[in-house]
Amino acid sequence: MSVLEMMNPATAEKLGEVREATKEDVQTAMAEAREAFSSWRNVPLKERLRFMKRLRETIVEQADDLADQIAKDTGKVKLEALMSDIFPTVATIKYYEGKAASILKTRRVRTPVTLIGRRSRVEYRPMGVVAVISPWNYPFQLSVIPAVSALITGNTVLYKPSEISPLTGKVIEDLFSSLAMPKGVFRVLHGGKETGRHLVESGPDKIFFTGSAATGKKIMAAAAERLIPVELELGGKDPMLVFADADLDRAAYGAIWGAFTNAGQTCMAVERLYVESTVYADFVKKVKEKAEKLRLDQPDENDIGSMTSPQQMEIVNNHLEDAVEKGARVLCGGRRLNGKTLHFEPTVLIDVDHSMKIMRDETFGPVLPIMPFSSEEEAVRLANETPYGLNASVWSRDMAKANRVAARIDSGNVCINDVMIGIANPHLPYGGNKESGMGRYHGPEGLLTFVHPTSVISHPGKKRRELNWFPYNRDQYEAIGSLIRLLYGGRPARGLKGLPKVAKEFFRSE
Ligand code: NAD
Repeated sequence: MSVLEMMNPATAEKLGEVREATKEDVQTAMAEAREAFSSWRNVPLKERLRFMKRLRETIVEQADDLADQIAKDTGKVKLEALMSDIFPTVATIKYYEGKAASILKTRRVRTPVTLIGRRSRVEYRPMGVVAVISPWNYPFQLSVIPAVSALITGNTVLYKPSEISPLTGKVIEDLFSSLAMPKGVFRVLHGGKETGRHLVESGPDKIFFTGSAATGKKIMAAAAERLIPVELELGGKDPMLVFADADLDRAAYGAIWGAFTNAGQTCMAVERLYVESTVYADFVKKVKEKAEKLRLDQPDENDIGSMTSPQQMEIVNNHLEDAVEKGARVLCGGRRLNGKTLHFEPTVLIDVDHSMKIMRDETFGPVLPIMPFSSEEEAVRLANETPYGLNASVWSRDMAKANRVAARIDSGNVCINDVMIGIANPHLPYGGNKESGMGRYHGPEGLLTFVHPTSVISHPGKKRRELNWFPYNRDQYEAIGSLIRLLYGGRPARGLKGLPKVAKEFFRSE
């Protein structure tokens, strides 16, 4: 039996252990989830939503304790656990409690005259068993929100938490157990990559994956073998564009929060900051001053928490070394805090360019590289010069310019004079372009991603034969040809007048 150790990365305190699910455990869980699906899909939406309401209320009641556990599991500041893990989760559940019925309501659609006599509708049917595979950086919201969305839509869920934040996986397991949903509807499979692979190979009906682009590609390849639909929420290298006419103080505060919250381990972190050259020096000074004031070593009032994994810190160091070797200058920070395990000082870098890893690859740590630009055109080009497309921000008092630039950035989410905040609005869809992933969740899209929109067309069934059925004859050919000309040709249609006799008779018989 193999176990995962739970440990606080900020203090190295051991927090317990959890048993990893084996291949057999995954297969048994899959069989139970399939069995449960056959009844869960028929549980009325209102009842499924009642479970989610109970979940939301339990999360709110236990918010302080949950924030504490998430902070211990990841090393993040407790306020960030409350603000960025718990807050968006309960906000999204509440949003779906109000909106799910209208989003998932069967939709009647028009039936064209050529299909006379029939009625058409779209039904939103659940897909089956959904695998939710999550990362460690916001381990609560990135697990609970997709799981809840899949459950609301009538799917059952097998959830694999990250092996780097197993305590949060355990916390989520306990939360869902307290709801007493029917057996097999929601199940946690603790473990690492191996468990994740078993889960993918067990043949779920949909995979919802959040994690790195490298893993996303592997999962998509494995899913392709079985043609399993995937939603991939992957990494980013998000640009922030500051124009000279922006409120520079606001932009500087936004930059340091966007780059350093969660110790920079945010998929939508500001990882590249571009500033119009006329205000570059002034702006860099503001950012440096603000970054230097951030607190890392206060017992209860830290701004920056610890990083979560030593491997991630290695990547940060590697990117910094590469940048400095190629001529970048560290204005502040640049090293691990003395005597602490995984605390890394907020770091501001200048003299960077796109040959450096720090401007190309996802760093996922508290590093903010800043580069000047001299025209709107150049700003857009630099912003888009990345394989990623998750989030971006544009800062200017000229709203026409800000909107114009925002429209030209190839990314799934854009903020104007703000940073990362789109995900906090549950009405907005969320997801990435290019190597930042595919698919959207949150908003109405967050439920629609877990259903098959199923078309149903029905006829009263009282007519002997249809115009398009066998046996074929010349009249049919003429009738269909005239219909095409009448309905879709250049001249406006003249009712049934221009149709050959056979077609007129057909329509009149309805
Ligand atoms: P990761 O890709 O290493 O792991 C994510 C999850 O996938 C883990 O649970 C892991 O056990 C599992 N896994 C790994 N290999 C697997 C395989 N072959 N088959 C099945 N499962 C497998 O990512 P991470 O280090 O946990 O998270 C950080 C990454 O996640 C960053 O790139 C970050 O940008 C990204 N991320 C994206 C979003 C988003 O919403 N777009 C949000 C948060 C994090």
